[in-house]
Amino acid sequence: METKFNLLDYDQDGLKEVIKSVIGDSLDLTPYRLRQIFQWVYRRRVKDFSSMTDISKKLREALAESFEITLPEIIFSQNSVDGSRKYLLKLKDGSEVESVLICQPTRFTLCVSSQVGCAIGCKFCRTAQMGLKRNLKVSEIIGQVMAVQEDVWSRGERGITFDDPEAQAPFQNIVFMGMGEPLHNKDSVISTVKILNDEHGLNFSGRKITVSTSGLIPAIKEFGESSARANLAISLNATTDEVRTEIMPINKRWPLEDLLETLRQFPLKAGRRITFEYVLLAGVNDTDEDMKRLPVLLRGIPAKINLIPYNSNSGLGYYPPEAERVQIWQKTLLSKGMNSTIRWSKGMDISAACGQLATESMRAKKKLEQALAA
Ligand code: SAH
Ligand code: SF4
Repeated sequence: METKFNLLDYDQDGLKEVIKSVIGDSLDLTPYRLRQIFQWVYRRRVKDFSSMTDISKKLREALAESFEITLPEIIFSQNSVDGSRKYLLKLKDGSEVESVLICQPTRFTLCVSSQVGCAIGCKFCRTAQMGLKRNLKVSEIIGQVMAVQEDVWSRGERGITFDDPEAQAPFQNIVFMGMGEPLHNKDSVISTVKILNDEHGLNFSGRKITVSTSGLIPAIKEFGESSARANLAISLNATTDEVRTEIMPINKRWPLEDLLETLRQFPLKAGRRITFEYVLLAGVNDTDEDMKRLPVLLRGIPAKINLIPYNSNSGLGYYPPEAERVQIWQKTLLSKGMNSTIRWSKGMDISAACGQLATESMRAKKKLEQALAA
């Protein structure tokens, strides 16, 4: 059987191109018509073209012939005691990825994956151990967002109903901090962010989206120059090249000084900051000297430092510092006028915390539950 194009793989510009190339120029594909299609797909959530009643029958039929609208399938989910929930999603080729709905005091945030596995090889990260299996397509990233939204609506949680998607969003923020290095899959990530931003798409403001990267300099530049609107977060994790290269091999290719210079040039809107993630690893990157060097390194960059006490992954040989030490870090940074927060982990009991995502653990849990139920 001939495979169809998944409509969710395209932002508006891309959709226009692909429809033109597949169906031809004969159809009445005005910007207005494209917006209508987007509204049917992303706002009204229809999955078949015949329901798009304000679009001509001819176009509907032509679309149905070459396109489909399919989401990744949620095959398992696990709730954490802290209100977070981890999802295991199955893709068309049988690959699996994880998304985490993170419960915070005033909001929910969805953490999405951008690749199956990751090629970057950070020593402390569980995903790194999977290696890179493949990049996710746009439909597989935007599809995580839609599938989780639709799951929350169908559960009827917090009074949200499926009929009224505008009533209340199941989550307000989206972070590209799941499995994978988003900027290693930059074209798909940029298109996904454009669909998120699109008022006829999922309509998330750029302030509500964060793309986190281990520091791929050329892709950071391209991302900054693109029309995708999202916050940038950099996994810094060290204050010297020596330590950074040891724990993040990518630092060899794109060392600290070059990375920070790129960020000084990064086009930021007034009042906005770049987030620096700093995973605290006891005895590795949490010394008094690191504490002193960090504010100096970040001079000239509007920065927000997110301190992340390490979430232990057994066998990797890294440990978090004592909670007290984490607090000293924050106090010291604040006293130097730096904006600094602590990201206490979420979903620890279900291995949903940062750097703990690797689908085999969730698959094992699913099998166990199935065996117990049998
Ligand atoms: N690949 C991207 C985004 C996913 S990782 C990146 O590295 O930025 C999201 C964050 O989790 C990164 O800042 C990473 O440094 C951090 N992280 C990885 N493993 C962790 C762990 N075990 N405990 C705490 N944070 C971790
Ligand atoms: Fe990849 Fe990010 Fe993990 Fe590094 S921390 S291996 S870049 S997912």
